[in-house]
Amino acid sequence: MASHLGASVRELSALRSALEQFDRAADRLNLDPGLRAVLRVPKRELTVNFPVEMDDGRIEVFSGYRVQHSLARGPAKGGIRYHPQVDLDEIRALAMWMTWKCAVVRLPYGGAKGGVVCDPKLMSQRELERMTRRYATEISVLIGPDADIPAPDVNTGPQTMAWIMDTYSMHHGYSIPAVVTGKPLSIGGSEGRADATAQGAVYCIEQAAAQLGLPLAGARVVVQGFGNAGEGSARLLHALGARIIAVSDSRGGVFNANGLNPADLLRYKQETGSVVGAPRTQPIGNAELLELECEILVPAALESVITERNASRVKARIVAEAANGPTTPEADRILDERGVFVIPDILCNAGGVTVSYFEWVQDRDAFFWTGEEVNARLQRVMVGAFNDVLRTQQSASVDMRLAAQMLAVSRVAEATTTRGIYP
Ligand code: NAD
Repeated sequence: MASHLGASVRELSALRSALEQFDRAADRLNLDPGLRAVLRVPKRELTVNFPVEMDDGRIEVFSGYRVQHSLARGPAKGGIRYHPQVDLDEIRALAMWMTWKCAVVRLPYGGAKGGVVCDPKLMSQRELERMTRRYATEISVLIGPDADIPAPDVNTGPQTMAWIMDTYSMHHGYSIPAVVTGKPLSIGGSEGRADATAQGAVYCIEQAAAQLGLPLAGARVVVQGFGNAGEGSARLLHALGARIIAVSDSRGGVFNANGLNPADLLRYKQETGSVVGAPRTQPIGNAELLELECEILVPAALESVITERNASRVKARIVAEAANGPTTPEADRILDERGVFVIPDILCNAGGVTVSYFEWVQDRDAFFWTGEEVNARLQRVMVGAFNDVLRTQQSASVDMRLAAQMLAVSRVAEATTTRGIYP
């Protein structure tokens, strides 16, 4: 991405951001040094290298990871990412963020994340299926409905979860739907899961806008990333009367000052593979898009896109982090000084894992809820968590990120201390 030019890899490392955010919260909470040492590192890390037969008969060896950061509050929970740039440090950061996220919304889970280094755009469905089933087998020493429950993330979705559920179930000889969430409805998925991340972000945006006295009707919105989190956010905000002026995907962005229709863009992307070139739009770069005049900016793609290089030019009043880790610690300070209201990732995108939790509960009960029930419960969780973070922000006089981190770290610290050290 253009905004990355000249920035060092270390400066943009997700793990560096995650550790700096944790250290800030630990300092502020005066966390015991022993506890700090425990929570600063992942509990378990698994690296797997495995062969897959490609359609042309070639054997390719893929590398994958599954990292469990903490199990103090319950089984591990976190998505699986397929991307050519996935590495162990990125997965460590994402696993740690999952621990804090589950604690912010009070889910009885620890944090985990997985990934496979691959480029799904260059693979056929059959190749993706074979790779997914073998990866699921390789990490089956860790996953399980009481142990570690994967979910979708970048470039994975309901079909990927169906293959993992089927593979795990075949190993056991009977169906175990609760081993993954984000499944298709036909095999134990939940109503409302597909839009859960976006819906949760929109519930937070409504709260933030009310705080600022900003009407959502007519508010200008920019969305980076047009996948599960980004497309849903654009569509749901559009339905609330906001004006979506720009969206993007990995190939670039599109802009129209008078507003875009997310449904048209989705159709265009499904036909052509990208939003770029959609009718009645002007092209715009992914870096330029972050600096557009707007009220609400929704980063919904990858990490470290708002940095010290561009944070002073972000003009939005609200930055709603549907993505994990889009803002570096230096950029956080700049946005805070400039009075930008940041809804931090571990709060903003927690709707996804919240409805994943609902799905897991439904699978274990074999009793399913209506979409209305799911969304009403999701709204209660998100609004409750938003208000908890806002209260901490006000009482501790800190920014929203630090407030969310303090709340989460203190809950995980309490569980860790209460359990004590084994043996
Ligand atoms: P996705 O694969 O459905 O969509 C990702 C989108 O980002 C795609 O449109 C892709 O083209 C675009 N993209 C990729 N690289 C880009 C780049 N360099 N610049 C601009 N756009 C780019 O993935 P997703 O599940 O929507 O995940 C997006 C973000 O949301 C990630 O940070 C993920 O961790 C986070 N998230 C997802 C969920 C979930 O339930 N899926 C939950 C919480 C957080």
